[in-house]
Amino acid sequence: MICPFCRHDDSRVIDSRPVEDGTQIRRRRECPQCSQRFSTQEVALLNIIKRSGATEPFSREKVLVGVRKACQGRPVNEDDLILLAQRVEEALRSTGQAEIEANEVGMAILAPLRDLDEVAYLRYASVYRNFASLEDFEGEIALLRALPSNSSNPSSASKTLTNSGKS
Ligand SMILES: [Zn+2]
Repeated sequence: MICPFCRHDDSRVIDSRPVEDGTQIRRRRECPQCSQRFSTQEVALLNIIKRSGATEPFSREKVLVGVRKACQGRPVNEDDLILLAQRVEEALRSTGQAEIEANEVGMAILAPLRDLDEVAYLRYASVYRNFASLEDFEGEIALLRALPSNSSNPSSASKTLTNSGKS
């Protein structure tokens, strides 16, 4: 960052703090040449385009609300959910786009949720992707089975799934 006083092409960050619920960062900088101090504010551009066409800033809290519902009664704790929301935000930011369609947020939730809890994933996917029939569930479950899971032994997958209804 160029010094606004002497135009020196570098400055040192001496303090950095989140403002506006962490969606912005205010930095106090000092010029190593003239020792003047100045402030900068960084606003991360990540807006969500809603179906109505309106945009709003991305909110991890909104991700949490949707995912929390799908995880009700599942062995998933709040820390897992917070981490998931963080992964979603990172995935969206890594696209480099400043504006993202709301349905892409939904898509970005699916993969980490699947890693976290397959039942919660199915619940979420059924709503988000408008599952209309048992066949939709069956198709999705078939996909889940085909995916490389956490299980180290793929041949045991079918046995495990036969018992899954009991739990
Ligand atoms: Zn300076």
